[in-house]
Amino acid sequence: MQVRITVSFPYEAPVSQSLFDRASVVTPGGVNSPVRAFRAVGGTPRFMVSGTGPYLTDADGREYVDLVCSWGPMILGHSHPVVIAAVQDAVARGTSFGTPGAGEVELAEEIVARIAPVEQVRLVSSGTEATMSAIRLARGFTGRAKVIKFAGCYHGHVDALLAAAGSGVATFGLPDTPGVTGAQAGDTIVLPYNDLAAVRAAFAAHEGEIACVITEASPGNMGVVPPLPGFNQGLADLCSRNGALYISDEVMTGFRVSKAGWYGIDGVRPDLMTFGKVMGGGFPAAAFGGRADVMAHLAPAGPVYQAGTLSGNPIATAAGVAQLRLLDDAAYAKVDAVSAEVRGLVTAALAKEGVAHRLQVAGNMFSVFFTDAEVTDYEKAKTQESFRFTAFFHSMLAQGVYLPPSAFESWFVSTAHDDAAVERIAAALPAAARAAAEASA
Ligand code: PLP
Repeated sequence: MQVRITVSFPYEAPVSQSLFDRASVVTPGGVNSPVRAFRAVGGTPRFMVSGTGPYLTDADGREYVDLVCSWGPMILGHSHPVVIAAVQDAVARGTSFGTPGAGEVELAEEIVARIAPVEQVRLVSSGTEATMSAIRLARGFTGRAKVIKFAGCYHGHVDALLAAAGSGVATFGLPDTPGVTGAQAGDTIVLPYNDLAAVRAAFAAHEGEIACVITEASPGNMGVVPPLPGFNQGLADLCSRNGALYISDEVMTGFRVSKAGWYGIDGVRPDLMTFGKVMGGGFPAAAFGGRADVMAHLAPAGPVYQAGTLSGNPIATAAGVAQLRLLDDAAYAKVDAVSAEVRGLVTAALAKEGVAHRLQVAGNMFSVFFTDAEVTDYEKAKTQESFRFTAFFHSMLAQGVYLPPSAFESWFVSTAHDDAAVERIAAALPAAARAAAEASA
């Protein structure tokens, strides 16, 4: 659905518009990943041509403070010189060998060293591949078919996971998109997030049938909705009591919210974990890993097949290793501090204009819900006044601040967001808050 922009802004993006027009001829919807198309907020998607530190520059030559950070990966900002040097060094030696390489070992060792539950790890090229493979492995390991997931949690476009809840409790997933068959989604049980009673009931109703529970370690794909105290531990306990595997999807939180991701914050031990985004340093690298006895079932060590022509690509692993090695305690302290500062500015500006809102936080990830009420699941997330976000978003964009183009996404900052970048955000907020206050549905 194309949303109509009800407020007019003194800005145009003719070069981006013409690129979008051309793209729309040769690419469905003009983009290669749907949320980039600005459908939720309307207007012309900005085509970016370069990024430096906390800034992106679009094809019209306009600069933006970037609060998307490529949806998480760019935790050191854009074009970090150490990462760029590592990439240039790797490129000069060749771009893909189709053989094992030292970079893969280094990246795997970095991951295993940081995250205690990960005893072994397999590298893949996208978060989607990571969750798809983890689920296949869980099914192969347990010999069971059913998977529990939560409404509002996104795990990539895996067929079996593109199922959303109807209302009510333990609902069998209905395919959420044409192209996913009932058979593909039929073994997926979709439950409300943060509802342990629903998980308990599903295990009781399907005794001996559930292979795994997959959850975002702390969800960021319905906006930021952290687990309530005890929820993740409850999932781990229910899985272990019922012979199922607990899969924590840390594609978004991994290496971002702490050195050891969300695991570093809540300490709940999963059987399997999935990673992506930050670990690739801006390149397509992702991973899944966990208990060595489970990972031993993966080909060629075991019978569960999984493979990839470009898995462990030398450029991607070089970027990932360089980025992870720069992410020490000081780096996380910096990202946390920037996040707290931006959050404080946003809430002050919205409060000043009397806009009902709620800042929800998971480590250094955060998002603004345009509602008074605490958001603990997807149904509550959907009750926010997202038309206010549309006005807020376009005002910020017009003033050179690039926010996620949807009210249901996390905002991301980086070590590169310095005082100058934060000042630009601060300067843009009063007008954006006013636009949010004046917006109507
Ligand atoms: N899991 C989570 C939690 C994600 O946020 C995403 C992407 O946003 C994915 C999986 C899928 O990753 P990718 O887009 O690399 O396939």
